[in-house]
Amino acid sequence: MTKSVYFFGDGKAEGTKDMKAVLGGKGANLAEMTNIGVPVPPGFTVACQACIDYLRGGDFPDALREEIREHLRHLEEVTGRGFGDPKSPLLVSVRSGAPVSMPGMMETILNLGLNDVTVQGLASQSGNARFAYDSYRRFIQMYGDVVLGVAHHDFEQLLSAKRLTQGVETDAELDEASLRTLVEEYKVLVRSATGAAFPMDPLTQLWGAIEAVWRSWTLKKAVDYRRVNGIRDDLGTAVNVVAMVFGNLGDDSGTGVAFTRDPSTGERTFYGEFLVNAQGEDVVAGIRTPLSIGEMAHRLPDAYRELLEVQQRLESHFHDMQDLEFTVERGALYLLQTRTGKRTAAAAVRIATEMVDEGLIERAEAVQRVPAEQLDQLLHPVIDPSVRATPIATGLPASPGAASGVAVFDPDVAEARAAQGVILVRDETTPEDFHGIVAARAVLTARGGMTSHAAVVARGMGKCAVVGCKEIVLDADRRGFTANGTTIHEGDWITIDGATGRVYAGDLPTTPSEIVQVIRGMRRPDDAPSYRAFQRLLGWADEVRHLRVRANADTPADARIARGFGAEGIGLCRTEHMFFEGDRITAMREMIVARDEGGRRRALAKLLPMQRADFEGIFEAMRGFPVTIRLLDPPLHEFLPHGGEESKLLARTLGLTRVQLAHIVDELRETNPMLGHRGCRLGITYPEITEMQARAIFEAAVRARRRGIDVHPEIMIPLVASAKEFANQRAIVDDVASRVLGVMGEEVPYLVGTMIELPRAALTADEIAASAEFFSFGTNDLTQTTFGLSRDDAGRFLPLYVERGIFPDDPFQVLDQTGVGKLIDVAVASGRRVRAGLKVGICGEHGGEPKSIKFCHRLGLDYVSCSPYRVPIARLAAAHGALESGA
Ligand code: PEP
Ligand code: MG
Repeated sequence: MTKSVYFFGDGKAEGTKDMKAVLGGKGANLAEMTNIGVPVPPGFTVACQACIDYLRGGDFPDALREEIREHLRHLEEVTGRGFGDPKSPLLVSVRSGAPVSMPGMMETILNLGLNDVTVQGLASQSGNARFAYDSYRRFIQMYGDVVLGVAHHDFEQLLSAKRLTQGVETDAELDEASLRTLVEEYKVLVRSATGAAFPMDPLTQLWGAIEAVWRSWTLKKAVDYRRVNGIRDDLGTAVNVVAMVFGNLGDDSGTGVAFTRDPSTGERTFYGEFLVNAQGEDVVAGIRTPLSIGEMAHRLPDAYRELLEVQQRLESHFHDMQDLEFTVERGALYLLQTRTGKRTAAAAVRIATEMVDEGLIERAEAVQRVPAEQLDQLLHPVIDPSVRATPIATGLPASPGAASGVAVFDPDVAEARAAQGVILVRDETTPEDFHGIVAARAVLTARGGMTSHAAVVARGMGKCAVVGCKEIVLDADRRGFTANGTTIHEGDWITIDGATGRVYAGDLPTTPSEIVQVIRGMRRPDDAPSYRAFQRLLGWADEVRHLRVRANADTPADARIARGFGAEGIGLCRTEHMFFEGDRITAMREMIVARDEGGRRRALAKLLPMQRADFEGIFEAMRGFPVTIRLLDPPLHEFLPHGGEESKLLARTLGLTRVQLAHIVDELRETNPMLGHRGCRLGITYPEITEMQARAIFEAAVRARRRGIDVHPEIMIPLVASAKEFANQRAIVDDVASRVLGVMGEEVPYLVGTMIELPRAALTADEIAASAEFFSFGTNDLTQTTFGLSRDDAGRFLPLYVERGIFPDDPFQVLDQTGVGKLIDVAVASGRRVRAGLKVGICGEHGGEPKSIKFCHRLGLDYVSCSPYRVPIARLAAAHGALESGA
């Protein structure tokens, strides 16, 4: 029989920290803490596999029940208490704990083992009958809600009625007698709601709780959380059954949550919150605003000293910032959980670099510690400091970044109005609000601390959040809040700053983040500590990565930004993008609508100097690095105006108003996948366009060289399907090159290559490589043409495909490795067979997406190219690719 239950307690455990897949994160770390001598209450963990088996088969096998009973007996021995014992009852908590942390997403039950008899034992043992009945009523409430499905609200109603009849404001003021009657009222409620009495047998209670934890794996909030965080559905959750310790036994007891470093900034300081005389969930749920951990030195000095020592020990042991939960029972400290702490991007970079300086981790480890995608957060804007706005309220700065949006007060409304850009405002959030947080740009709460649900979840998602903002008073029914005299209704704009905790009315302008300011030359690096840490980390990433990282940039300004972020060249300059602005578009339109070559040449002559100047600027910004310039690939209609007489006529014929018709047309419009007269097809039909562009490139190259700039132009032919098309265009480019360079008396080394955007090009790559010197995979079009999916219209149904698991991801965002990836693999191999050392890169959107980048590393591509702001992400992801493959 496979072992399903693992014990920990009395200084030793059957599990270790490396058994997360079996014991879940919480179980594995409880075992590890026990093994290294950290005070942990004893208990046992039921392995994740039991959850999976239960969810598949729907039954709770007798053999497993027996194994659990055995461990319960062991727990009784270790604690010296009996499960159901009237004098000295063993009480346990039953908690979920998946292999990947899913904070607050699944169920927890505390005080299990209480019944009408054991509650008296607890009363005499603790010498505090009020405490015993308070624990009992909490247990019935939690168990009733989680296991028996009695509405939480119904218990709350009885509770508030009791406060009212007793004339008290808080639950803590209810006396023993009222709690005793409340327990009876709760039991009546359970009987009427479920048709059965509340279970008095502790074992029955335990089986029910374990099944409820297993089932909580499939709750909507848990499923949503897994989807957003890319966590597999088949991992299951472990169940941790742990002897209860009580933080609510009086003023010498308490409970709290702490981080070994500041999770917002990464500063090395012990950081956390606690509540005196409180039980477990009170801190995390954000129901009472807690005290800062420093206060604990005065309130519970001995436990605080021990906690300081333990937190350091845990961080050195786990080699990472830890997020701890602890309880102090009558002065004695117990750790209930430790896990790797979630942190903002700024904190992640700072912690990783400082841990290298402290000798705690190696550089490669530091590089792996920061998720590539998270760097995006560091580039988010902040509120423009030159704007003189007075905050209407200030709360706790829980997760940085600035965001404006319309205020909404309900997670479903947040989801429905997401397209408008919303900020979710709540008293506090619970896991039930998760979908609303996902939909919102930012979160604002009136209650709760830096470790409240809202703070932890927003931080994990890289969303800005202000929490515990006591100055705002929510009026949930009227859907609004008031803050120091200003009233905000649902739909009004607000702006929040997650770095300062400030809340403003209106839509305030923002300014670039510290890092972007340095890149743009608005701030000196000496004055920018986050920038320096970011640079160090990326420098280490550069040391290990194999893939080069280039940028997709169309203007000299973008090229300069890209260099600032460390781009090693341009992988795609979309020349048609150079014509969107000002009087350029007129010349472009003139070229498009010209009826003959003469007309086109006249328009092209106007475009030539503009292109040449831009190319020269880009060569300058990218001095010494290759610059890939793609010949014109315009969807022509994008440059032309729409509407007019035709629609008027049709509307009349059909008996509709023009507005009605326009509406219908809009509804029905499917932008075609733009596989018409574009790409090299344009240059083949109108060779004068290719000529003009080649001339602009070589003249710009010569001019730049004459100014001492090292230039490496790479001319790229778009949308090639056959070797003949490529050869046709290449001949024009070579001809112009020899003429321009000959006349100007200069040598410019250059390459001519192609985009691979069509399956036929990928399948005949060997033929194309005979005359192409490089390939760049245009995976936007290659995805569209491989799937037969229009990249402009697929958004209408792709989300549903992803939701139903038909596609694992949107293939326009994350490269489809099995299909599109196979074509890339085939093309690279056959291209390199013909031309050893063929330079190969990727320049579709996937070039900035971490999973796709790692795949490119595995395929042996030379470079990825992405938008300038994704260059840091790509540098880090390329390093991750190299480190993961051990190369
Ligand atoms: C591509 O198709 O991947 C590409 C980079 O070209 P564009 O997006 O301009 O079509
Ligand atoms: Mg393309």
